[in-house]
Parts: sequence; C-alpha cells; structure tokens
Amino acid sequence: MAIETDSRSDSFAGTALSSERLSALAARVGADGTDIDTDTDADTDADTIAVRAPATDTVIGSIPACTVADVDGAVDRARDAQSSWADRSVEERGEILERFGDLVLEHRAELLDLLQLETGKSRRHALEEVLDVPLTCSYYADSGPAALADRKRRGAFPPATTARVTAEPVGVVGVISPWNYPLTLSVTDVIPALIAGNAVVLKPDEKTPFTALALAELLERAGLPDDVFGIVTGDGPTVGPALIDRVDYLSFTGSTETGRVVAERAGRNLIDCSLELGGKNPLVVLEDADIDEAARGAVQACFTNAGQLCLSAERLFVHESVFDEFLDAFVGETRRLALGTDFDFAADVGSLIDGDQLERVERHVEEALETGASVLTGGRHRPDVGPFCYEPTILTDVDPDATVAREETFGPVVSVRPVSSTEAAIRAANDTEYGLNASVWAGDRDRGVAVAREIDCGTVCVNDAYVSGWAAVDAPMGGFGDSGLGRRHGREGIERYLESRTIATSRIGPLDAPPGIPTSWYARGMMGLTRLQRRLPTVSSVRRWFR
Ligand code: NAD
Repeated sequence: MAIETDSRSDSFAGTALSSERLSALAARVGADGTDIDTDTDADTDADTIAVRAPATDTVIGSIPACTVADVDGAVDRARDAQSSWADRSVEERGEILERFGDLVLEHRAELLDLLQLETGKSRRHALEEVLDVPLTCSYYADSGPAALADRKRRGAFPPATTARVTAEPVGVVGVISPWNYPLTLSVTDVIPALIAGNAVVLKPDEKTPFTALALAELLERAGLPDDVFGIVTGDGPTVGPALIDRVDYLSFTGSTETGRVVAERAGRNLIDCSLELGGKNPLVVLEDADIDEAARGAVQACFTNAGQLCLSAERLFVHESVFDEFLDAFVGETRRLALGTDFDFAADVGSLIDGDQLERVERHVEEALETGASVLTGGRHRPDVGPFCYEPTILTDVDPDATVAREETFGPVVSVRPVSSTEAAIRAANDTEYGLNASVWAGDRDRGVAVAREIDCGTVCVNDAYVSGWAAVDAPMGGFGDSGLGRRHGREGIERYLESRTIATSRIGPLDAPPGIPTSWYARGMMGLTRLQRRLPTVSSVRRWFR
C-alpha cells in the first residue's frame, strides 16, 4: 500500500526539524548491518510505516516496518555486545548514562520539538519528559553500585557455612513503549537495564518513533558501545511478539489489553516481565482540604498531556460539604486553560494523538450525556485549534455504570461525584479493576496519609496530583490489579533486570553424616542441632532488642 505523504511545510514550522532530519533518524533502525528499507519517499510500501503529526494530521516521515528477521538480527547483535558491556564496571556504565542525561538537557530544544511534533502535546508537558530523563540517569548511576554489590546472607549452619548472593544481568532486555510519553517511557526502563549490565532492544510505538531514535543517537554520543542499545520499529502485533520470543526479560508499558497478550507470551517463553498498564485513577477531596489547592491540583491531575497520561485522574470524589465550592473553583481553573499546538510555551493543553483517540473521547462523553450526565465545561471537539483537539471537559451526574465512569478514557474528560463520608470516598475510589495512581486532598496531611493507606493503588499522592509520586525515583511505581505487574523506579526497578545467584560455602566439608558415625547417632545429633538453631536469635530479633 502506497503511503500518502504530505510535504506541507506547516508541520515543521516553528521548529528546527525537517523531513531530512527525520529520514536520518529513521536510517538508524538497522543501521548496523540489517537490510532495512529506510526510503521515506512518496512511493513507500508495506516495508515502511508513515508517521503523522497530530497537530496537522500530515505525514512527517516514515520508519521501517521491521520483520521477525529484523528483530532476530537486532537481538543477536545485542546479545553479542552484552557480555563486554557487563564486563565494564558499574561505575563506568553509570558515567556513560550520566553523560547521556547531560546530552538530553543540552539537546532539549530539538527533543521538545520532536516530542511536540509526533505527539501534538503542549511544550510545557513535553518539558516534563525532558526533565525526567536526566534525573533517572543520575539516580541509577548513583544507586546502581549498591544494587549490584554482593550481599551476605545467613548460612545454613553459621559459622560452619556461609551464603552470599551475587547479582547478574539477565542478558538482553526487550522494552515495548507507548506513544503518550515517548521520551520518558522509551528510556525510563532502559536506563536501569543498562546500568545493570544488560543490552536492550527497544520497540517504540509506531506513532512516535523519532524521539526514541534521537535518544539512541544521544546514547551513542555519550559513549554507549555499538549494539548495546538497539531499536526495532514497526507494527506492534508483528514486532512485539518477535521481541518477546527472543529476549531474556520484557518490560512493557501500554494498555491492559495488550499487557495480557504480552504476559501470556512471556509466560510461554518462561521469561519474566514487568507490565505498566492502564488506570481509571481516582482523586479524593476531603472536607478539610484547601479547596483552591485541590482545584489547581485536579486540573493538573486531569488535563496534563490532554489526559493522555496513565497517572491522570478520571474519577473525582468530593466530600458533599465542599462539593459546590470545589466545583466552582475546578471549573473556573479549567476554563482558563489555553488549548493550542504551537511550538512555544503559550498553550496549556495540546492535541490528542489521533482520530481513534478523539473518537473514543467523543463516544465516552456522548454516552454519558445520553444517560443523564451534564457537562460543566468543555465537551467539544475543536478542529479550529487542531484536527484532534478536544476541550478539557468536566462532567457531573454521571451514571456509575457509564463507560466514562468505568473504562479508561485516556483523554481530557473527568467525572465529579459528591460523597457523604471519607469511607464512601474510599469505597468509590476502590470500585474499579484498576489500581495505578490516586490523589488525596486533605487539610490534615496525616489524615490524608491514613486515607492513602486504604486506597488500592501502586501510588497515592497526598496533596499532589502525581508528580511527587513519579518524581520520587527512589520509590517503586506500578499498579495493583489490572494496572500491571512488577515495579519500575527505585531498587525494584533495577532488581527486575538481575538474576540472583546464591554462592554457599562449607568450612567443614560435606554437610552429611561423618564417616563411621551410625546414622541413628547422626539423626539424634541433627535433631539437637536443629532445635538449637531454632532457638538462636535471628537477625530481626536482635534488631528488635536494640531498638
Ligand atoms: P498499546 O497497548 O496499544 O501499545 C503499547 C505498545 O505495545 C506499542 O508499542 C504497540 O506497538 C505495542 N503492541 C501492540 N500490540 C502488541 C502485541 N500484540 N504484542 C506486543 N506489543 C504490542 O497502548 P497504547 O494505546 O499505545 O498506550 C496507551 C495505554 O498505555 C493506556 O492504557 C495507558 O494507561 C497505558 N500506559 C501506562 C503507563 C504506566 O506506566 N502504567 C504509562 C503510559 C501508558
């Protein structure tokens, strides 16, 4: 099928980007040996996939549609490169990743342009991604040595025996990432994998490949050896399974639906995986909350990246005693948001990614209205701003069984409901299969924390929307229930990429009956030893004594 291209220059207007620059980035796919067609001319065929700019709905370039053989090649090359990468010290690997973080900051102007070009997001939301990556690099460069160090464990019969655990890289890690945060989510799971001594093959979303390719260029400039990081582009159902079949670990971020397919395949291959999936995140406002702060926080929670953020709040539960006051403030703040797609910091909210996402948003709102909901602000497609722009939308009186109340909209649409008590708010917040992120607003922070403990989510931010949870890189992040498996960030974020090997030693030879001792004597001796051992203080009991 021929790909329609559109050479209208307005997609690139206001940026330093050009179609030549994007072609050069596309040429990085398979640049090291595989025969991949990177022709981005008008007459491209099934070997390539067109990439469109959401702000103009025009083709800005194309990328190779990699085949199973291309994935094989990329993983083979990564495997060959991995052992010498793992042989370097963790400190040396950390220095390269730190340099990469510096380069991301240095090249922020182009990265911001690329992010806006291929996602349509506002520049202020693109900036969050640029700031996030260097912090993650520094965190893992700093904490990597401790995570990879040998650890002493209690031996079977101390001091006659010892045990220590070593941490080894799993080998080649596959990373599959979505389109909504193509800078952050292409590398946030790659950085700890590389620090741990693994090689990585990344499959970015086919809608947003260029940011990931620009990152590959910066990693190379930072000194990452050839083939330690590779990118395969193309269609998810073709490239994704091929990658899962060949790697030693798979880190997936995307929808719950695809996550199930990925987990099944990983299970069949007996490889471990982490799944960062969808959400239907609640935001709770208690009666003693600072209402102005809560309203500003709700705007950030609901409309960042036009709601296309896995941590976005889509269900708001507000104590009935402050419901009207909160709604007034929230609607007021929301109406002040500027919608736009220019390559500057003027707009607060940008475009949706494509027509499918727009259709989903419109369907959820229309169905809610048909079943009795009211729109307090928004509720309109804005083709005058951009083909896929949709106004930040607040709904009330939403039927609790409506699609918009139960399924992830992944757009700038939120429903607000009064609740009669804190317990009712907690029940409503937990009434979902998902459990990714929640936000709780309380005047008394301790009370907010107590409520947070009752909410079934991987992250709960008190008096903040999501930034304090995400940016706490030292703390694990992930989902309960249908929101995922495993955790990124923190020690957990690197340990998933390590195999542990226990090395046990004996100072007294084989732990078996000594020669010439009757088995009945040996059995009696072992019974006594076992009883004694059970009475010996454990490490945790000794710690308790000294507390
Ligand atoms: P998606 O599942 O459709 O696609 C994600 C990635 O999976 C893409 O690279 C895609 O090409 C690939 N893919 C598609 N089919 C595949 C298959 N059969 N096997 C392997 N890979 C396949 O998700 P999306 O719609 O692009 O992203 C939005 C979703 O991602 C939302 O649900 C959002 O909540 C979720 N998300 C979660 C997090 C998180 O950290 N929990 C972060 C961002 C997005």
